[in-house]
Amino acid sequence: MLSHILNIIFPAVCKQCGCFITTATTTTACFCNKCWEGIKWFNMPCCPQCGVPYPSLETSADPFPVSSSAHTCGECIKNPPYFDRAISAGPYTEVLAEAIKLFKYKKKIHIGLALAGHDVMVAGLTNLIQRCPEAPFLIPVPLHQNRLREREYNQSAIITSVINSKFGIPVLTDILNRQRYTKPQVELGFRERKENVTGAFTVQNNEVIKGKNIILVDDVYTTGSTVNECAKVLKKSGAGKVYVVTIARMV
Ligand SMILES: [Zn+2]
Ligand SMILES: [Zn+2]
Repeated sequence: MLSHILNIIFPAVCKQCGCFITTATTTTACFCNKCWEGIKWFNMPCCPQCGVPYPSLETSADPFPVSSSAHTCGECIKNPPYFDRAISAGPYTEVLAEAIKLFKYKKKIHIGLALAGHDVMVAGLTNLIQRCPEAPFLIPVPLHQNRLREREYNQSAIITSVINSKFGIPVLTDILNRQRYTKPQVELGFRERKENVTGAFTVQNNEVIKGKNIILVDDVYTTGSTVNECAKVLKKSGAGKVYVVTIARMV
């Protein structure tokens, strides 16, 4: 009742377009329906390894094309990543970028839950899992304990828990650790990002992941430095295939 009255006196404003929200659901509480429904998802072929979209190629009606293009991008040929395949549901722009920032930095956990469980994510993951030669395990990209204390939660672990509940894929915790406190990648350029995360991760209990396929989960794929460093230590510890799933990707 009180929240209803407050909503009339101080109506919620859409974080994207600034309109007054009149029909918000818990899921979309920070955005008007038009903005939320208008989130852009990838619907074009992409590099089968790093997932960079090829916007010049023909688009498909289906979002999140995991099957993707037959040809690997120049960057992956020059510097092959340690991970086998990276997929992202949409570009880190507009509503999706705003939604992820609210989830990551403003404690809007419900937004993260809604994005991680979105039909588009589920469709992309279903497609990926069907392609896994053997049942995979989930590992969220860890935060350093100091960062975890500051932020109070690991956004990647929340996304991972949604995938776990939808697909029943087991989550491996206490395997991948972030031992070094690194600067936020968002403040750095491409080369600095790579140096910033080099040696930042360690694997413990590596007998658990021997020969196992891993799906690494993160919120945003920016340059791929962080997930590539994680994939490197996982592979060096005996992991089988390493896949990367993020909600969004910088384009
Ligand atoms: Zn709006
Ligand atoms: Zn590539």
